[in-house]
Amino acid sequence: MARRRQIYEGKAKILYEGPEPGTLIQYFKDDATAFNAQKRGTINGKGVLNNRISEHVFTLLGNIGVPTHFIRRLNMREQLIRQVEIVPIEVIVRNVAAGTLSKRLGIEEGTQLPRTLIEYCYKDDALGDPLVAEEHIACFNWCSQDELHDIQDMAIRINDFMSGMFAAVGIRLVDFKLEFGRLYEGDFSRIILADEISPDGCRLWDMATNEKLDKDRFRRDLGGEVEAYQEVARRLGLLPEGGDNAVLDLESHRKKKS
Ligand code: C5P
Repeated sequence: MARRRQIYEGKAKILYEGPEPGTLIQYFKDDATAFNAQKRGTINGKGVLNNRISEHVFTLLGNIGVPTHFIRRLNMREQLIRQVEIVPIEVIVRNVAAGTLSKRLGIEEGTQLPRTLIEYCYKDDALGDPLVAEEHIACFNWCSQDELHDIQDMAIRINDFMSGMFAAVGIRLVDFKLEFGRLYEGDFSRIILADEISPDGCRLWDMATNEKLDKDRFRRDLGGEVEAYQEVARRLGLLPEGGDNAVLDLESHRKKKS
């Protein structure tokens, strides 16, 4: 069998050429990095959980009309996606102060923000993904004004939907990161949601205890990373009740159940 062509390797994912033109295969690794890859580690089973959680969230977002790159999950670690040209901006949506916002502005972690805050970082590892303003995006033409409006509209819609989805299972959506891409259709392109949505790029706190159920467990050496990711998957109904195996073959489990 011919070896498939690797298009890109990131910190937590690998992209391979897809089976048809315009498609890619997104592979979820167990590798974890933090603080611009100054801290590195492995969280066994993370890739499987993130693949499944991201599939779930992207599918639900697709159902409410948010266009995404997700086509379908292929196996435990891979999903088929549409190839897009990634907009070089990380969109950070915040509901509660935490992380770099708390540090930068001296706001105590856990403080509810008076309104949802959207921040932008320029995607450049060498520069450490610096915070930028809308003016920088326009000045350097990282995306057009129309594209930025679409991104903002989608970010707010995604935040509203996900805040409700997580609240329903006792989780506070503190903040999260989104990435968008241009999907070319003939002479035109439109903005769609890309990358992944998982505990790697979200802050998720248990509503009753404020326990962290996200990558801060790794960043802050709290331990219990897999258990936290598993708990998110379990509450979203993606793991069998009472099961404690993070890397269950969920597909065969579901088939067996039905
Ligand atoms: O570190 P900071 O507080 O700016 O992160 C805000 C949110 O964006 C967090 O949920 C974090 O997981 C996510 N993020 C990310 N990738 C980055 C920067 C932030 O997923 N490069």
